[in-house]
Amino acid sequence: MAIKVDIVTPEKMLYSGEVEMITLPGTNGQMGILRGHAPLLSTLDIGEIVLHKREGNDYLAVSGGVVEVRPDKVTILADVAEAGEEIDEERARIALERAQRILAENPPPHQVPEIMASLRRSTLRLKVARRHAGRRASSGLNYESGQQQ
Ligand code: ATP
Repeated sequence: MAIKVDIVTPEKMLYSGEVEMITLPGTNGQMGILRGHAPLLSTLDIGEIVLHKREGNDYLAVSGGVVEVRPDKVTILADVAEAGEEIDEERARIALERAQRILAENPPPHQVPEIMASLRRSTLRLKVARRHAGRRASSGLNYESGQQQ
Protein backbone atom coordinates (compact mmCIF):
# COMPACT_ATOMS: atom_id res chain seq x y z
CA MET A 1 0.00 0.00 0.00
CA ALA A 2 1.40 3.33 -1.08
CA ILE A 3 1.66 6.56 0.90
CA LYS A 4 1.30 10.03 -0.65
CA VAL A 5 4.29 12.33 -0.46
CA ASP A 6 4.52 16.09 -1.12
CA ILE A 7 7.92 17.80 -0.92
CA VAL A 8 7.82 21.59 -1.12
CA THR A 9 10.66 24.13 -1.07
CA PRO A 10 10.28 27.93 -0.86
CA GLU A 11 10.87 27.89 -4.62
CA LYS A 12 8.67 25.08 -5.90
CA MET A 13 6.81 21.80 -5.50
CA LEU A 14 9.76 19.42 -5.75
CA TYR A 15 7.82 16.15 -5.63
CA SER A 16 4.23 15.04 -5.41
CA GLY A 17 3.34 11.40 -5.81
CA GLU A 18 2.96 8.00 -4.19
CA VAL A 19 5.73 5.82 -2.80
CA GLU A 20 5.99 2.45 -1.07
CA MET A 21 8.19 3.96 1.66
CA ILE A 22 10.06 7.18 2.37
CA THR A 23 13.18 7.51 4.48
CA LEU A 24 14.16 10.96 5.70
CA PRO A 25 16.61 12.66 8.09
CA GLY A 26 14.67 13.70 11.20
CA THR A 27 16.70 15.75 13.67
CA ASN A 28 16.31 12.86 16.13
CA GLY A 29 17.48 10.29 13.60
CA GLN A 30 16.71 8.69 10.26
CA MET A 31 13.02 7.74 9.85
CA GLY A 32 11.41 5.17 7.59
CA ILE A 33 7.72 5.82 6.93
CA LEU A 34 5.14 3.44 5.48
CA ARG A 35 1.41 3.96 4.98
CA GLY A 36 -0.39 3.78 8.33
CA HIS A 37 2.39 5.46 10.30
CA ALA A 38 1.31 7.25 13.47
CA PRO A 39 0.92 11.02 13.07
CA LEU A 40 3.97 13.09 13.96
CA LEU A 41 5.71 16.38 13.38
CA SER A 42 9.50 16.62 13.22
CA THR A 43 12.19 19.02 12.16
CA LEU A 44 14.64 17.90 9.48
CA ASP A 45 18.42 17.71 9.53
CA ILE A 46 20.83 17.95 6.60
CA GLY A 47 20.51 14.56 4.91
CA GLU A 48 19.18 12.27 2.24
CA ILE A 49 15.55 11.55 1.40
CA VAL A 50 14.93 8.25 -0.38
CA LEU A 51 11.63 7.68 -2.17
CA HIS A 52 11.24 3.92 -2.44
CA LYS A 53 9.06 3.24 -5.47
CA ARG A 54 8.12 0.05 -7.27
CA GLU A 55 10.19 1.10 -10.28
CA GLY A 56 13.26 2.02 -8.20
CA ASN A 57 14.47 4.60 -5.71
CA ASP A 58 14.64 8.39 -6.11
CA TYR A 59 17.27 10.25 -4.09
CA LEU A 60 16.96 13.85 -2.86
CA ALA A 61 19.14 16.12 -0.72
CA VAL A 62 17.44 18.16 2.02
CA SER A 63 18.91 20.83 4.31
CA GLY A 64 16.50 21.57 7.13
CA GLY A 65 12.76 22.04 7.29
CA VAL A 66 9.81 20.24 8.84
CA VAL A 67 7.89 17.05 8.11
CA GLU A 68 4.29 16.27 8.97
CA VAL A 69 3.36 12.59 8.91
CA ARG A 70 -0.25 11.44 8.70
CA PRO A 71 -1.25 7.80 8.14
CA ASP A 72 -1.90 8.36 4.42
CA LYS A 73 0.36 11.33 3.65
CA VAL A 74 3.83 12.77 4.31
CA THR A 75 4.28 16.52 3.79
CA ILE A 76 7.79 17.96 3.78
CA LEU A 77 8.36 21.70 3.90
CA ALA A 78 12.07 21.89 3.15
CA ASP A 79 14.26 24.95 3.77
CA VAL A 80 16.47 23.84 0.86
CA ALA A 81 16.17 20.66 -1.21
CA GLU A 82 17.23 19.29 -4.56
CA ALA A 83 16.32 16.16 -6.51
CA GLY A 84 19.32 14.05 -7.51
CA GLU A 85 19.06 15.07 -11.16
CA GLU A 86 19.12 18.79 -10.27
CA ILE A 87 22.38 18.68 -8.35
CA ASP A 88 25.30 20.47 -9.96
CA GLU A 89 28.24 18.30 -8.85
CA GLU A 90 30.85 20.86 -9.85
CA ARG A 91 29.17 23.52 -7.73
CA ALA A 92 29.02 21.12 -4.77
CA ARG A 93 32.70 20.21 -5.22
CA ILE A 94 33.67 23.90 -5.24
CA ALA A 95 31.56 24.54 -2.10
CA LEU A 96 33.19 21.54 -0.37
CA GLU A 97 36.72 22.68 -1.24
CA ARG A 98 35.90 26.22 -0.09
CA ALA A 99 34.61 24.96 3.28
CA GLN A 100 37.63 22.67 3.74
CA ARG A 101 40.02 25.50 2.88
CA ILE A 102 38.38 27.93 5.35
CA LEU A 103 38.37 25.29 8.11
CA ALA A 104 42.07 24.61 7.54
CA GLU A 105 42.80 28.32 8.05
CA ASN A 106 41.58 28.30 11.69
CA PRO A 107 38.47 30.46 11.32
CA PRO A 108 37.04 32.34 14.34
CA PRO A 109 34.97 29.90 16.46
CA HIS A 110 31.67 31.69 15.77
CA GLN A 111 32.09 30.93 12.04
CA VAL A 112 32.74 27.21 12.52
CA PRO A 113 29.08 25.99 12.73
CA GLU A 114 28.19 27.66 9.42
CA ILE A 115 31.32 26.29 7.72
CA MET A 116 30.56 22.80 9.07
CA ALA A 117 26.98 23.07 7.76
CA SER A 118 28.30 24.09 4.33
CA LEU A 119 30.67 21.09 4.42
CA ARG A 120 27.79 18.76 5.29
CA ARG A 121 25.53 20.20 2.55
CA SER A 122 28.16 19.87 -0.15
CA THR A 123 29.19 16.35 0.95
CA LEU A 124 25.54 15.34 0.95
CA ARG A 125 24.95 16.80 -2.53
CA LEU A 126 27.89 14.87 -3.94
CA LYS A 127 26.63 11.64 -2.34
CA VAL A 128 23.06 12.11 -3.61
CA ALA A 129 24.21 13.08 -7.13
CA ARG A 130 26.35 9.91 -7.29
CA ARG A 131 23.54 7.71 -5.98
CA HIS A 132 21.24 9.21 -8.62
CA ALA A 133 23.81 8.62 -11.37
CA GLY A 134 24.33 5.03 -10.13
CA ARG A 135 20.62 4.41 -10.25
CA ARG A 136 20.47 5.59 -13.88
CA ALA A 137 23.48 3.51 -14.84
CA SER A 138 22.09 0.33 -13.32
CA SER A 139 18.64 0.78 -14.86
CA GLY A 140 20.38 1.33 -18.24
CA LEU A 141 22.20 -1.97 -17.80
CA ASN A 142 18.95 -3.74 -16.98
CA TYR A 143 17.27 -2.40 -20.10
CA GLU A 144 20.23 -3.45 -22.24
CA SER A 145 20.11 -6.98 -20.91
CA GLY A 146 16.33 -7.02 -21.10
CA GLN A 147 15.90 -7.64 -17.36
CA GLN A 148 13.22 -5.21 -16.32
CA GLN A 149 12.36 -5.12 -12.63
P1 ATP B 1 26.87 27.26 -2.60
O1 ATP B 1 28.03 27.63 -1.71
O2 ATP B 1 27.30 26.44 -3.81
O3 ATP B 1 25.93 28.42 -2.94
P2 ATP B 1 25.15 26.52 -0.43
O4 ATP B 1 25.21 25.25 0.36
O5 ATP B 1 25.57 27.76 0.25
O6 ATP B 1 26.00 26.23 -1.76
P3 ATP B 1 22.33 26.76 -0.19
O7 ATP B 1 22.26 28.06 0.58
O8 ATP B 1 22.16 25.49 0.57
O9 ATP B 1 23.71 26.71 -1.01
O10 ATP B 1 21.27 26.80 -1.37
C1 ATP B 1 20.97 27.96 -2.13
C2 ATP B 1 20.21 27.54 -3.37
O11 ATP B 1 21.10 26.91 -4.29
C3 ATP B 1 19.10 26.52 -3.12
O12 ATP B 1 18.04 26.76 -4.00
C4 ATP B 1 19.76 25.18 -3.45
O13 ATP B 1 18.80 24.23 -3.85
C5 ATP B 1 20.69 25.58 -4.57
N1 ATP B 1 21.93 24.78 -4.63
C6 ATP B 1 23.00 24.88 -3.81
N2 ATP B 1 23.99 24.06 -4.19
C7 ATP B 1 23.52 23.40 -5.29
C8 ATP B 1 24.07 22.40 -6.15
N3 ATP B 1 25.28 21.89 -5.96
N4 ATP B 1 23.32 21.97 -7.19
C9 ATP B 1 22.08 22.47 -7.40
N5 ATP B 1 21.50 23.40 -6.62
C10 ATP B 1 22.21 23.87 -5.57
